[in-house]
Amino acid sequence: MKKFRIVSRWVKRRVKTRRARRTHSRASSVRNASGRRSYLTHKELARALITERVIHFNKHYNLPLGKIAIRNQVSRWGSCSKKGNLNFNYKLLFLTAELRDYVIVHEICHVKEFNHGSSFWNLVSEVVPDYHSLNKALRKINARVVVSMDSNLQTNLQSKITQEKL
Ligand SMILES: [Zn+2]
Repeated sequence: MKKFRIVSRWVKRRVKTRRARRTHSRASSVRNASGRRSYLTHKELARALITERVIHFNKHYNLPLGKIAIRNQVSRWGSCSKKGNLNFNYKLLFLTAELRDYVIVHEICHVKEFNHGSSFWNLVSEVVPDYHSLNKALRKINARVVVSMDSNLQTNLQSKITQEKL
């Protein structure tokens, strides 16, 4: 009887640990699922808005751009490949238009200057003269915590994009 009790206590302890582990992994998968849902919900809106701005700014730069991809990145706002493909974080949608445009111009300029040298910054400043303060402001925003958008803003953006397409 005594032996059984010890065993059952041991079993209970094991079950408790496993349950705790399962709860923990469930919590993180819920977090991932909501992040993925947000990405799927906003991806096309982000693509429409960003593509429109890329075309707009490239009227000035006239650079041979590759494909535009919208990604669900953890901490990067954008990147540019050697082939001139541009990648943007869908969460740019949740930033102010000023910051969003700065990221877009920044990546376009990397097609010509694949570094952060003075000729790169000169190129950026042709369109975004206050790039320095915008870059500073952007560094203070953690992409990990930028997760949602005001639904009014979303409706306004959607109608803005539709109007501009007409
Ligand atoms: Zn850069």
